[in-house]
Amino acid sequence: MAAHEARKVLRGAGEATVEVRLGSGVTVGGGAFTVIAGPCALENADQVEKAATAVKLAGAHVLRGGAFKPRTSPYSFQGLGEMGLQLLAEQGKRHRMPVVSEVMDVSQLALMLDYVDVLQIGARNMHNFSLLREVAKTNRPVVLKRGFGATLEEWLLAAEYLLDGGNDQVILCERGIRSFDNTLRNTLDLAGMAWVKERSRLPVIVDPSHSTGVRSLVIPMALAAAAAGADGIMVEVHPAPEAAMCDGPQALTPEMFGSLMQTLPALLHATGRALARPEALAAVGGASR
Ligand code: PEP
Ligand code: MN
Repeated sequence: MAAHEARKVLRGAGEATVEVRLGSGVTVGGGAFTVIAGPCALENADQVEKAATAVKLAGAHVLRGGAFKPRTSPYSFQGLGEMGLQLLAEQGKRHRMPVVSEVMDVSQLALMLDYVDVLQIGARNMHNFSLLREVAKTNRPVVLKRGFGATLEEWLLAAEYLLDGGNDQVILCERGIRSFDNTLRNTLDLAGMAWVKERSRLPVIVDPSHSTGVRSLVIPMALAAAAAGADGIMVEVHPAPEAAMCDGPQALTPEMFGSLMQTLPALLHATGRALARPEALAAVGGASR
């Protein structure tokens, strides 16, 4: 990458990874491994409540859920919009977990800021430079997903837009790319993730759900991401995946997610790391708003 193109996103000699603060004492990039979990789409109050309770009990740090869904077909479920954001924020407060949700368009930004701790920019919007510029102005932490057709350099330059606009609270998320092989939904570029970790000062997480599209591969790829040095994962969990309105085939059941969270500490330990502290675990079941 030419030095004049990307500056702020690159790691200077000996420079530490930026520690991104998500709220409720949860950070990404400080060395520990952070887990973001929840359903692909927010569907209804019962589903969001069950998903939030399950991921919190298992030890997740951040709750995810899409209210505005970028679907390939206009006839697929498009998300609950503001009602979904309300449900997400309510469960985040109840379980003292910061919440993250995707902003698809500049026009949604003001609304999103009322409800979410962390803004997600999706793979389909990584090249939306006007959205990047507006999100940069918010100073809200951002999860920036890699476009499925984007090179590593293009991904870093998209992050550069956020940093150049004054927001360095950026987490990069590898979510799989399109390759010649369409057997799986996407091709998880773990080596690309590790390359970006070396070169960028930003924390990098992995999404083992969209990068595989296959439930049985999510746990192995989550563990591989941890072994390869990722700062965390973003994983889809649904209380009843067979009934999911979006991405059911790749959603972990609460039981599977629990088992992943049980396995991660030993694997992280082998590489001298640990799970981030479950900051507010005592708050499970508590209802402070
Ligand atoms: C998502 O995380 O819900 C999502 C739509 O992911 P991506 O933008 O990576 O496809
Ligand atoms: Mn999804």
